[in-house]
Amino acid sequence: MQRVVSPQRISAITAEARRRGHTIGFVPTMGFLHEGHISLMRIARDLCDELVVSIYVNPKQFGPGEDLDRYPRDLEGDADKCEGTGVDWLFVPDDLYGDCHCTTVSVSGLSQGLCGAARPGHFDGVTTVVARLFGLTHPHVAVFGEKDYQQLAIIRRMTLDLALDVEIVGGPLVRDVDGLALSSRNKYLDPEQRKRALTLHRALFAMRDSGERNAASLVSLGRRHLDVDKLDYLEVVDAHTLQPVAPQTREARALVAAHLGGTRLIDNVGIPWT
Ligand code: AMP
Repeated sequence: MQRVVSPQRISAITAEARRRGHTIGFVPTMGFLHEGHISLMRIARDLCDELVVSIYVNPKQFGPGEDLDRYPRDLEGDADKCEGTGVDWLFVPDDLYGDCHCTTVSVSGLSQGLCGAARPGHFDGVTTVVARLFGLTHPHVAVFGEKDYQQLAIIRRMTLDLALDVEIVGGPLVRDVDGLALSSRNKYLDPEQRKRALTLHRALFAMRDSGERNAASLVSLGRRHLDVDKLDYLEVVDAHTLQPVAPQTREARALVAAHLGGTRLIDNVGIPWT
């Protein structure tokens, strides 16, 4: 595995790999890697000849007062995990944008509700960085986690709308043994908060397993399980449109975002709807 810091260099490396006829897989991350990230790398590894992973804590996707300055980092540990998973190129830019600050990529509609409502501008930061990373790494396939379910839907939309010629693959959400969705931010939780954080997945699984298929009733059922400091949202939406469930909905998704102390956590689960 080689570490690359310069955007121009990763661009030259991946362009050259393409010329040699190699397929390129790409997994963008913000680092402090866990099994959720590794699972995406394994999926990408199986689909391509050369695997690029990026680690970049993207300031554009953090709002004022969010955790940009304290976002956990462990570059050496991350590099070992990448090496052990068969990553070829670890892209860790110091400065990803350089003078390129003028363009914002924004996906309307899908970016507005759920996390978009709670974190204004967040998804514009995500789509802008992902578009730039795609431009630099020339991937044939890019893998994103269903942990960030709305983000995955937005990236798929962006890729289609801009005809980016990258295959977007979604990887299943990976949980800890007790059910907590793995997240770099779990590191912030003290033992008492971590215990209460388990109520996120309990609420979602209780909703899924209840047999109830009325969205409002499901949400009230889920709320009864939650023990959090602040709930941003608990919603049941159509799994494809992220709009309210409708007669044509075949698969729904229950999604939650909540704060425990200063930590914001998200989780989601699929709910068969027919
Ligand atoms: P992040 O480093 O949090 O920006 O995440 C980078 C990628 O890893 C995103 O595509 C996330 O959806 C994905 N990811 C994060 N946590 C998990 C998880 N527990 N299971 C599956 N994918 C995850």
